[in-house]
Amino acid sequence: MEKYDVVVIGGGPAGSTVAKELVEQGKKVLVLEKRKEIGFPNHCSGLVSEEFISFAGVDSSLVLNKIKGASFYLHSDKIFSFKDNKTHAVVIDRTAFDRKVAESAMQNGAAYLFNSNVKGIERVGGKLHIHYENRSIRTVEAPLLVIASGARSSVLRLAGFKRVRGETIRTLQVEGTVSLPDEDVAYLYINNEISPNWFAWAIPLGGGKARIGLGSDRGENLLPLLEALKKRWTLLKGKKINIESKVAWLIPIGFMDRPFKENIVVVGDAARAVKPFSGGGLHTGLISAHIASQVLLTALSKKNYSEKMLSNYARLCDIPVRNEIKKGIMLRKIYRSMDDIEKEKFLLSLDNENAKKIIFNSGHIDHPWEVGYKLLKYIKSPLFYYLKSHLF
Ligand SMILES: Cc1cc2nc3c(=O)[nH]c(=O)nc-3n(C[C@H](O)[C@H](O)[C@H](O)COP(=O)(O)OP(=O)(O)OC[C@H]3O[C@@H](n4cnc5c(N)ncnc54)[C@H](O)[C@@H]3O)c2cc1C
Repeated sequence: MEKYDVVVIGGGPAGSTVAKELVEQGKKVLVLEKRKEIGFPNHCSGLVSEEFISFAGVDSSLVLNKIKGASFYLHSDKIFSFKDNKTHAVVIDRTAFDRKVAESAMQNGAAYLFNSNVKGIERVGGKLHIHYENRSIRTVEAPLLVIASGARSSVLRLAGFKRVRGETIRTLQVEGTVSLPDEDVAYLYINNEISPNWFAWAIPLGGGKARIGLGSDRGENLLPLLEALKKRWTLLKGKKINIESKVAWLIPIGFMDRPFKENIVVVGDAARAVKPFSGGGLHTGLISAHIASQVLLTALSKKNYSEKMLSNYARLCDIPVRNEIKKGIMLRKIYRSMDDIEKEKFLLSLDNENAKKIIFNSGHIDHPWEVGYKLLKYIKSPLFYYLKSHLF
């Protein structure tokens, strides 16, 4: 049986980041990936901050488009827009991004096995036996396991984690050719009948292409909602959309209380390291992966794989990940408590120079709660006092 220092389940950005950081320190690492290739199909809108590109250790060739503002289409078809000449976010080629992160792990010596679906995890004499299916059932051994298997994870159950309480948003996104009025702007549509308790989006990729999608916190089939979106959203009405791909996916909300166990840590979407207000998970997921790598290196150097040692991972995630998510959950509670008319009233009350100044100065895609907090304060909303008393 092949033995490793660490086995990682899942070759997405979180899993590959841990693999890369461990092999750079000379550790023997195996990544088990159930799909036949990395990064496909792409389920993600690919919106990240410019800083994220260097944080993730990739280069700007992955940037497809730069976003300088946003346009909110509201329930009554009114529009609230803002834009200046600065880049507030970039859109990345997500498939190429996942591949780049995995390639740099491989180049430093990480082993990847594709078509390898993990089917069982067993504790044997202080180590783990990880059983995976690749034509037949095979087994590898390691003292440490990283679960980075994403939102649709059955692996947590295999490792004996209890079902995590928290919301899960179902999404459907298409990518294709469609002409949008301004390719420097991200478009959002707020209509509770079309995307219950979430929102719909159209993210321009440049060159006449876009990612269009919607989310819902309910269990219904999203295809009829997508059809309704194309008819109802004035941005898309009468437009021909040449769909090249269509992907259904999940957004898990609410960071796990205990993303660790003896011999095991959980990172990325599997640990629910996702911003609850926007659904963005690349930044928080990679922070969790980076912290996990540091803790695993210490565990390996001390040969200590105990739950107590690995609890340092959760402790170190407290400020940069859990706190960010906690604040996002509060904002999301407020968003859910408002109906479409209240959301419209709120957004239209920001259609002035002072509010836009706050948006441009404080709006940051990596910390979306901050601008929400400041805007509620600016319009003297009673919700600001609710938020303040829960956050600080
Ligand atoms: C519609 C949508 C839009 C989004 N837009 C953005 C955005 O604009 N910006 C942003 O920052 N984030 C966005 N996100 C979130 C982002 O895509 C995720 O946070 C990110 O993919 C998480 O990375 P990960 O490595 O944790 O998981 P994943 O990328 O899901 O990777 C998990 C990997 O594990 C593998 N796996 C699963 N089970 C097994 C198994 N049993 N055995 C072996 N391998 C297994 C999977 O095949 C997969 O390759 C979006 C999400 C959705 C759904």
